[in-house]
Amino acid sequence: RAKAAGRDRCALYDLAMREDARTRHDSERRLRRALRDGGLRLVWQPIVDLRDRHLVAAECLVRLQDPVEGLFGPATFVDTAEDTGLIVDVDSWVLDAALDQLQEWRSAGTDLQVSVNVSGRTLEHPAFSHRLAHSVQRNSGAGSHLLAEVTERTLIDLSAPTRASLHELRSAGVRVGLDDFGTGYSSLAYLQRFPLSFLKIDRSFVTPLGTSRRADAVVEALIALAHAHGMLVTAEGVETELQAQRLLQMGCDRAQGWLFGRPVAAADLFGAQP
Ligand code: C2E
Ligand code: MG
Ligand code: MG
Ligand code: MG
Repeated sequence: RAKAAGRDRCALYDLAMREDARTRHDSERRLRRALRDGGLRLVWQPIVDLRDRHLVAAECLVRLQDPVEGLFGPATFVDTAEDTGLIVDVDSWVLDAALDQLQEWRSAGTDLQVSVNVSGRTLEHPAFSHRLAHSVQRNSGAGSHLLAEVTERTLIDLSAPTRASLHELRSAGVRVGLDDFGTGYSSLAYLQRFPLSFLKIDRSFVTPLGTSRRADAVVEALIALAHAHGMLVTAEGVETELQAQRLLQMGCDRAQGWLFGRPVAAADLFGAQP
C-alpha cells in the first residue's frame, strides 16, 4: 500500500514536472516570437509626490501582446526570460522604448522621470550599460530623468561585471534604486554594497498600513532607515486613502498604486490621474 501510494505520488510529481516544462516551453516560444515580431509593449504607471500628489515619475512595465493568444503580463514570462537569458533582450527593448518615450515627453516640455526595471542577469552583460550610456549621451540630460530599479537579489549576488554596470549607470546620471524592498533578506549589509538613490517599499508592507500598529511601526522604521542613508522612498501598491495618509505622516516621499493610477498606455498617463 505504502509502495503504491509512493508510486502515485511519483506519477503526480512527474505529471506536474511535465506540465511545468510544457508551460515553460510555451512561454519561451511565445517570448521569442514577441521579440522577433515586435510583440512587446510598455504600459506606464504614475508615481506621485505624496505631499501634493503631482505626477513626478512613471514606471514602465512590460507586456507581451501575442497575435493569437492575447495579452500576457510579466508574471507569465519574466522567470522564463531570466532562465533562458532572453531577459537581456527584453530589458534592452524596454530601455530603448522607454528612452524614446522619455525623449518624446521632454520635447513636449513634460518634465517626468522614467523608471525602468533591470534584471540582475541583464546587468551582468556589459553591453546593456554601454548601450544605455551611449543613448543617454546622445540625448543629453536624459540620464538625470532615468531611474533604474534593481532587486535585492542583484545586490546580494553582486558580481564584478554587475558592479561595473551599476557604476556605469550612475556615471551616466541614472539613479539606481532598490525595488520590492522588504521581500528579500533586507539586510543592512548589502545596502552598503552600492550607493542607492531610492528605495521602493514592497506592497506587502503597504497593504496592512493603518490596520495594524506593528505594520505601521515596520514601515516607519524602513522609511527612517532609507532617509538616514540619503535615499528617497517610494511606496508601492498604495490602494487606499488610509494607506496614503499613513505614509504621508511617516514622511514617505512618493507613492505608486491603484489609488493614483493603474498602468496605462503612455498616451493615457496624464488622464489616468484622478
Ligand atoms: P514591480 O517592478 O514591483 O512592479 C509593480 C507591480 O505591481 C506591477 O505588476 C504593477 O502593475 C503592480 N501594481 C502596481 N500598483 C498596484 C496596486 O496598487 N495593487 C496591486 N495589487 N498591484 C499593483 P506587473 O506589471 O505585473 O509587473 C510585475 C513585475 O514584473 C514587476 O514588479 C517587475 O519586477 C517585473 N517587470 C515588469 N516589467 C519589467 C521589465 O521591463 N524588465 C524586468 N526585468 N522586469 C520587469
Ligand atoms: Mg519595479
Ligand atoms: Mg516593485
Ligand atoms: Mg513587485
